[in-house]
Amino acid sequence: MDEKLSLAEISENLRLIEQTEARILAEKILSGEPGLVAVTGQFGSGKTTTTLMIAHQVWRQGFPVTLLTQDRNFLNYLHLSLPQDWEIQYVDSSEQAWLEAIEVVTTDSSRAIAIDQLTYDNRKAILKAMQTGHWVFAPIDTPFVGIDVLSHLKVWQYSSEEILANVSGIVSQMLLPKLCENCAQLRPASLEETRLIYPDSYEIKELWYEQGCPVCENRVGGEYRYGRCASYEVLQIDAETKPLLSDYLEHNSLRALSVHKHFTMQQSSRGLVKKGQVGIQTYRNEVLQNPLFRIQHLWEQEQLRASRIQQMFGRFVTQHLAEELMSHQGFERIIEGEKRDVTCFFCDIRGFTTWSEQTAPTDIFTTLNQYFREMIDIVFQYEGTIDKFIGDSVMVIFGAPVEQIDHHLKAVNCAITIQKKVIEMNRLSENEPIKIGIGINSGEVVAGCLGSDRRMDYTILGDVVNTAARLESKAQPNQILLGETTYDAVKSEVSCRSMGNLNLKGKAKAAAVFEVIYSLTEED
Ligand SMILES: [Zn+2]
Repeated sequence: MDEKLSLAEISENLRLIEQTEARILAEKILSGEPGLVAVTGQFGSGKTTTTLMIAHQVWRQGFPVTLLTQDRNFLNYLHLSLPQDWEIQYVDSSEQAWLEAIEVVTTDSSRAIAIDQLTYDNRKAILKAMQTGHWVFAPIDTPFVGIDVLSHLKVWQYSSEEILANVSGIVSQMLLPKLCENCAQLRPASLEETRLIYPDSYEIKELWYEQGCPVCENRVGGEYRYGRCASYEVLQIDAETKPLLSDYLEHNSLRALSVHKHFTMQQSSRGLVKKGQVGIQTYRNEVLQNPLFRIQHLWEQEQLRASRIQQMFGRFVTQHLAEELMSHQGFERIIEGEKRDVTCFFCDIRGFTTWSEQTAPTDIFTTLNQYFREMIDIVFQYEGTIDKFIGDSVMVIFGAPVEQIDHHLKAVNCAITIQKKVIEMNRLSENEPIKIGIGINSGEVVAGCLGSDRRMDYTILGDVVNTAARLESKAQPNQILLGETTYDAVKSEVSCRSMGNLNLKGKAKAAAVFEVIYSLTEED
């Protein structure tokens, strides 16, 4: 008896659900609606102890606990002592015996019920216990974690409705070998490796590696010289997550759950790598290559892609474009940069400096905001991407990040629509009329993301961009100037006139320039 440890001590020794995020989520489950809290994990990962630990938390909230077990040696091999007022009952391993035992226990509505294992024999009894609104804690012998445990519960012939109505949470654990103290080394990782641990990073970071030594080699035989540490997965099932999980169970459709509802094994394991408790190789071999986490991994990639898109393009592309980008197979190419054929378009207010000097600042902002709002609407209408605002000048891209076959024509039509809109706005406004000049040029650029972890922007680089900017600076009020490549692509559909060859700043050779002819009235 002296050798036995109390649950509190066990908790201390195991540092149960040590990672803050997982613990907070586990506590949140216990503060919610009663139901089944299922604990899963590999053989020998200590899920029975974890189950009792979690039951212990509810006991501390004032629920007496009854422990039902069909194993007479149950307490012996646990090597722990339970609180005095926990009631332990042995139940024969038959369906009838379990149903009778549950019938008795559930008459006390304030009791929590801990079960040594969910099995085929007691599945009906456990469902009954859940349906009477009791807390039920049970380990399940399955290697599955998180949402996959829910599918696995169907093995016990629980329906999706029964599962979602009666399960409050899933806690899963996995033990990972601790980083070898003999040969651990912190060194710069590749970008690919950095992203395994810091998925949204664009910069390489230092990570912990095991360099390989006799101790590490021993691990092949299953010896963990420096012990193991637990990685957790916690899923909360509540009003918010139920509809999403129901979609998953019924239609196999996966939608993202927030980290406040679903803390994954990957996130948890990454935390261990960041803290230097687990090596990057271990993460790669045991977590990333674990087939059970593959769906999660894909899901996470999807979420990550969505948040990157949001971060980089959210403000400046249409919803339609954002969605197309999210499904874009080559998203990584965008991040890393690629050659693209695009049309680039600069638009700027003529005489802005003079105008702004003579106008009250609030009027300037009101006028400019109205102008930009209209302009952005038109750009989106033509599926252009606003690359950047530089003072009163705007850079727009057509043909990237999403390919457009007719990007030349879209850009030119967009420019004409903007010019007409501005003229119309001037007619309706009492303010000083705004006049804009537009320069358009097409050709091959390098498109991709530039910046750092702090801020990342999608942009295009190349001579095409510089020339478009030069053309814009040459454009008179209300004028649209085209470079030769754009002109060649649109000349059969847009009337233009040649301006001859103009010397553009920074260009050795004079460039052929064309002006778009359009009517200054809205009507056509
Ligand atoms: Zn080692």
